[in-house]
Amino acid sequence: SIILGIESSCDDTSAAIIKGNKILSNIAASQAIHNEYGGVVPELASRAHQQNIIPVVHKAVNKANIQQKDISAVGFTRGPGLLGSLLVGTSFAKSLSMSLGVPLIEVNHLQAHILAHFIDDANEKSPEFPFLCLTVSGGHTMIVLVRDYFDMEIIGKTIDDAAGEAFDKIGKIFGLDYPAGPIVDQLAKTGNADAFKFNKPRLENYNYSFSGIKTSVLYFIQKEVKKNPEFITENLADLCASVQKSIIEILMLKVEKAAKDLNINEVAIAGGVSANSGLREAMQQNAEKLGWNIYIPKFEYTTDNAAMIAMVAKLKFDKGEFADLSVSATARYDIEESFKTKD
Ligand code: ATP
Ligand code: FE
Repeated sequence: SIILGIESSCDDTSAAIIKGNKILSNIAASQAIHNEYGGVVPELASRAHQQNIIPVVHKAVNKANIQQKDISAVGFTRGPGLLGSLLVGTSFAKSLSMSLGVPLIEVNHLQAHILAHFIDDANEKSPEFPFLCLTVSGGHTMIVLVRDYFDMEIIGKTIDDAAGEAFDKIGKIFGLDYPAGPIVDQLAKTGNADAFKFNKPRLENYNYSFSGIKTSVLYFIQKEVKKNPEFITENLADLCASVQKSIIEILMLKVEKAAKDLNINEVAIAGGVSANSGLREAMQQNAEKLGWNIYIPKFEYTTDNAAMIAMVAKLKFDKGEFADLSVSATARYDIEESFKTKD
C-alpha cells in the first residue's frame, strides 16, 4: 500500500507518503509567524494551513516519486489539537479521498506520536509489546502502557501543564522565543545543571505536575533580577541546564517507578520533548543502569510530522478500518477513546 498522511493539528502543515512501513517523503511547512507572539495564534494557524496544504501535499507526492493515482488511502489527524487547524486537514483529506476514490482514515495524533516507533527507520529495532511510552509533547505528558498498536492504557498523566509547555513557559520567563524547548536544550549544553535547584512535585501514582516548577522559577527570577538586572543574561546557560535537569528528573522518576512496578523493561519516549538531548541521555543511562531496552525515535519523528500519521493510517488500512465522510475533526480526542470505534 501507498498511503498519504496529513497532519495539521497545531502550527505545522505536514504531508508524508508511506509505502509499507517505509517513509518515502515527509514534508513540513512550519509557521514562523507565531514566534513573535510567544505562542501559537489559532486564527493565524488555520489561515497558514489553508495556504500551505496544497503545496505541501504536492511536494510530498513529488518527493516520493509517485503520482496521486498511486495513493491507496488518505490518512489525516482528526484530533486532538486546535479545531480550526484540524478542520483544514480534515476537509482537505475528505475531498482528496473522494476525488481519488480511495478510503479515508482518521488518526489520533497522540497514538501517532507513539506508533511513530514502527516507522522503518525510526529506530534500529521496533519496541516489543508490551512497552511503556513516555509521551511528552507541547500539550500532553503521560505514561502509556502499549499492549498493542490499538490497545493502549494511560497509566499516568500531568494534572496541569505538559512538559513541553513547561519548557516553553519557563523559556519565555528567560526571554526566549517560542517554542523555547529546543533553545533551552541548546543553551543547556554549556551550562552547569547543578547551579540552581527548583522545587519538585510530590504526586501519587504515575502522575505529573509542572506548574510548580514554573512558578518556582518565576519567583526565583523576579527576586534575583531585582538584585541584579543582568541576572538572566549572566546565568542563562546555567538556568537552562538546571531547569532541563529538573524537568527530566521529574519525568524519569515516574517512568522508573512504572517500569519497576509493572516489571517492564521495554521503554520508549515519544512526542516533541523526546527530541531533548538531556532526556535522551537519561534514557541511555537507564538502559545501562536498569537494563532497559530503550526506544528513542529519530529526530524528525519526534515533533509534529505527517510520517507518524501515515504510519497509523497504514496500520488501520491493513485492518480495513476506514472513516466515512461524516467524520468530524475533534479538538479533544482521548487516546483510549480512539480504540472504541469499530473493530
Ligand atoms: P501535542 O502533541 O500534545 O498535541 P504538540 O503537537 O504541540 O502537542 P509536539 O510538536 O509534539 O507538540 O512538541 C512540541 C513541544 O516539544 C514544544 O513544547 C517544544 O518546546 C518541545 N520541544 C521540541 N524540541 C525540544 C527539545 N529539544 N527540548 C525540549 N523540548 C522540546
Ligand atoms: Fe504533537
